[in-house]
Amino acid sequence: MNAFEKLEMLGAQMGLEPAEESAAASNPHALAACGHTPAQLAQAFGGAPDTSVSIKDKKKNSLGIHNAIMPGGKRIALLKTMLTSVCERNCNYCPFRKGRDFRRATFKPDEMASAFTQLHAGKAVEGLFLSSGIAGGGPATQDRLIDTIDILRRKYKYRGYVHLKVMPGTERDQVHRAMQLADRLSVNLEAPNQTALTRLAPMKILMEELLQPLKWAAEIKAAGPPRGSLTGRWPSLVTQFVVGAAGESDVDLLGMTQSLNKQIGLQRAYFSAFSPVRDTPFENMTAENPWREHRLYQASFLLRDYGFEFEDLPFGAAGNLPLETDPKVGWAKQNLTEAPVDVNKADRRTLLKVPGIGPKGVDAILRERGRGTLRELGDLRALGVLAQRAAPYIMLAGRRPVAQMSLGL
Ligand code: SF4
Repeated sequence: MNAFEKLEMLGAQMGLEPAEESAAASNPHALAACGHTPAQLAQAFGGAPDTSVSIKDKKKNSLGIHNAIMPGGKRIALLKTMLTSVCERNCNYCPFRKGRDFRRATFKPDEMASAFTQLHAGKAVEGLFLSSGIAGGGPATQDRLIDTIDILRRKYKYRGYVHLKVMPGTERDQVHRAMQLADRLSVNLEAPNQTALTRLAPMKILMEELLQPLKWAAEIKAAGPPRGSLTGRWPSLVTQFVVGAAGESDVDLLGMTQSLNKQIGLQRAYFSAFSPVRDTPFENMTAENPWREHRLYQASFLLRDYGFEFEDLPFGAAGNLPLETDPKVGWAKQNLTEAPVDVNKADRRTLLKVPGIGPKGVDAILRERGRGTLRELGDLRALGVLAQRAAPYIMLAGRRPVAQMSLGL
């Protein structure tokens, strides 16, 4: 098998991959363990076909190349692939688990770096997302991942985007080396506590194997500037959770996410609704409702970017967010319906809590207030605010604007 046949095989096995850096709050495709979504893996390994993807996209996708939205909004063609689909672990939801019968592919580091370089030279790709099954232990696998990017950076002089996976059990100096080579590192926590993780991935140890590398990365960042880095900056840190297969609650998931945001500067968490894969121990389990994933993204952004506190989120008795309501709208209904926000006077933090007003909208409102009074919903609309969504919770020039009915999604 040549390198491109292997890429094609891995592309098919990884399913129709999403825009990996997308604002996934509005996108049901997000990354899960090993960099694939459970839903896409289910599709690739026997689930329903995705009819929303064009034939042209399918050709590109056959190699694992996908449009990705980068932080800041730029779109790039990202090769999303694995160094090997061989794995010695037995995660219960994963199609790559040990002993599962399907054809596997393995790259040597130089082979992968060379194949990527050819695609890059042909302008087929602009960035690389590289993951791997575990073969010979986490550290040995991580060495091969690092070698691949090192070859790419030094031998092939590639300076573009690299998102690199950190394997379970990776050692501190490997984390440091990976940080000198990649633009983004991700460690798949998969679950927010050991009990849930053991249900998903019986061989994985949350604290020592998964959280520890993230902590080391934060320590290395905090210790000083990125000396020896080939990118000139430390990479962003992200993680992924599989949602709905291990009994974890939204409180568990968001609690862990928030603590990682605060303690190690986690850039973001990806949530992936579980979907069963044929010939795995979880094949007969029910797929998680994709709305749960959507609500988790919304809530995580409220905590990270909108000044919400954990206690502000409308968790139900079982510790989950209501599926039928946007958590920001749920909070506003309870707190702003009788006490609307005066858009012409409120501070930034208060404005951010109004549905329909995001960070850019707040900036625009604050700028515009310096020039005069905002009087109509049309004034807000002109600033990019979702004015009808905001209307039930605001005052404009001393009056409550007339709002149309909203579904609150
Ligand atoms: S470690 Fe687990 S999730 Fe990762 S490829 Fe292996 S079986 Fe799949």
